Amino acid sequence: MGEQMEILLATSNPGKIKEIKKILSPYGLKLLTLEQFPPLKAPAETGKDFAENARIKAGFYAEKMAKPALADDSGLEVDYLGGGPGIYSSRFAGPEASDAERNQKLLSLLKGVPFPRRRAAFVCVAVLIFPGGKELKTEGRLEGYIATRPMGNEGFGYDPVFFLPEYKKTTAQLGQEKNRISHRFRAFKAMGELISREKS
Ligand code: IMP
Repeated sequence: MGEQMEILLATSNPGKIKEIKKILSPYGLKLLTLEQFPPLKAPAETGKDFAENARIKAGFYAEKMAKPALADDSGLEVDYLGGGPGIYSSRFAGPEASDAERNQKLLSLLKGVPFPRRRAAFVCVAVLIFPGGKELKTEGRLEGYIATRPMGNEGFGYDPVFFLPEYKKTTAQLGQEKNRISHRFRAFKAMGELISREKS
């Protein structure tokens, strides 16, 4: 392997940075963070799907900072809601709503819906854009069901209502195991593999 490839992590969420650094640690990359660059106002996420939003963020920083930039976008897709809330996952119950309020809204929309029709997936799309415009894209999914009430207090967001039948637990009850099976883990692991193949 030649010189270490520099990649800018185009997110300012400290939790995500820590998680992504850990997932990409086996791949011999030099990971930079936005803190190491002059501050810029983040671009508006106006895309129509996860990939477009990740591409907006990665493309913006790749151009401004003249470095390969890696961004992701993620959310919850519920079959019964036609794939919603999807890209609106964080704004689903209004901009000021709490995680608990979003979960309550989701549970009330699915009230009385039987278990087999409560299928859902956490989805994460990661996009790496090089300053010349070349792009690598990966996706990770975690399939599950929407529970009938919140359970567990680890994790964040929709974790207390996202139920995995094979574990008989929600992702808020899984502990560290979540980070070995999550949509984000799968998307960034696939990205690490893709970058390795590109370099060799
Ligand atoms: P973003 O990728 O940071 O924009 O996240 C979008 C939204 O999707 C979050 O605010 C959460 O509501 C939801 N979300 C994404 N990943 C997870 C997860 O692992 N657990 C629970 N909710 C998640």
